[in-house]
Amino acid sequence: MRDGTCQPLVAEEWDKFFNLSPDIMCVTGFDGCFKRMSPAVTAVLGYAAADLLDRSCRDFVHPEDLGRTRDEVDIIVGGSRTATQFFRNRFLHRDGSFRWLEWHSNTVAKDRLIFSVVRDVTEQTAIEERVQLYATELERSNAELQQFAYVASHDLQEPLRAVAGCVQMLHERNAGKLDERSVELIDHAVDGAKRLQALINDLLSLSRVGSKGITKTWFDSRLAVEKAVAQLQGAVEEASATITIEMMPHLSADFVQLTQLFQNLIGNAIKFRSHERRADIRIAARQEDGMIVFSVSDNGIGISPEYYDRIFGVFQRLNSRREYSGTGIGLAICKKIVERHEGRIWVEAGIEGGSTFRVAIPVGKHMQ
Ligand code: ADP
Repeated sequence: MRDGTCQPLVAEEWDKFFNLSPDIMCVTGFDGCFKRMSPAVTAVLGYAAADLLDRSCRDFVHPEDLGRTRDEVDIIVGGSRTATQFFRNRFLHRDGSFRWLEWHSNTVAKDRLIFSVVRDVTEQTAIEERVQLYATELERSNAELQQFAYVASHDLQEPLRAVAGCVQMLHERNAGKLDERSVELIDHAVDGAKRLQALINDLLSLSRVGSKGITKTWFDSRLAVEKAVAQLQGAVEEASATITIEMMPHLSADFVQLTQLFQNLIGNAIKFRSHERRADIRIAARQEDGMIVFSVSDNGIGISPEYYDRIFGVFQRLNSRREYSGTGIGLAICKKIVERHEGRIWVEAGIEGGSTFRVAIPVGKHMQ
């Protein structure tokens, strides 16, 4: 028919489907005995259809699945639910092995019959089990790694502080007695210790962002941007940077982490400013398909497109330490924050050859 509906099928036509289906089709009585079995059973389970007639389904179900299977049958036979879908159990193959079957069944109470379409999902189940195993293993090793990163960075801080303190004391106690080269060497040692300290602190922040749960609240994102700018006040003044904050939306996110994200992005926009012009930084947001897309644009030194992905990795820096200080962890922290919010971060060309970092985060729900 033209509208896609058909005349009811006659028995002969039903038989065609019954014989053609690669999935097993069968009719079972409420007592669990097979009354009709499609020929697909031979390809799936090795039996001739006739072998199974009048045999109870329970004789073939794996002993460990028997309880669940009985419960499921009792539910549909009892009538509290008339259908079952995606029910899985293991069924004895003629060769003695077990196959995973997935049952989609419906009852006709007046005839005390169960109609089922049964699919062999042995391979699919094995793959799902393997994926589950990998996921569990991955979660375990991730947690272990995070714990290691946390402990290592935490425990490294103490001896480092001691080294930096001793060198500094050495300098103070010998003030005036040291030659120029010795002072220079002490300065190098202090500088190295400070850099290591910054590195460890950033690694600690990275591992904290990854291991701590996020606390979402509904807030005005302008507050997070303003707090980030306030925390960067010294750098903003030193660079005489202009910071423009456009309309900012409300969203559901972790306030502390969003503030840290803006602090890293705006901090970078100030740090990587061009020597040729005053830093002009613009923070904006737009809403798109349930996501807020924030942007932090600068007119700084810019980033070559071939590094657009790489810079979000740990320790990836494009400039020398002498030119621009830093640990190369800031953007990795941003990426982790965004991922924890099920969002995405990327970079594009910005104003006057500068960069624009974009962050898409789901708006989330307004919770009271
Ligand atoms: P850090 O700032 O400590 O070097 P980040 O992870 O924050 O580390 O940034 C990684 C690298 O990406 C930086 O070293 C720099 O080369 C580049 N980068 C980041 N932000 C900007 C920016 N706004 N403009 C130009 N380059 C940037």
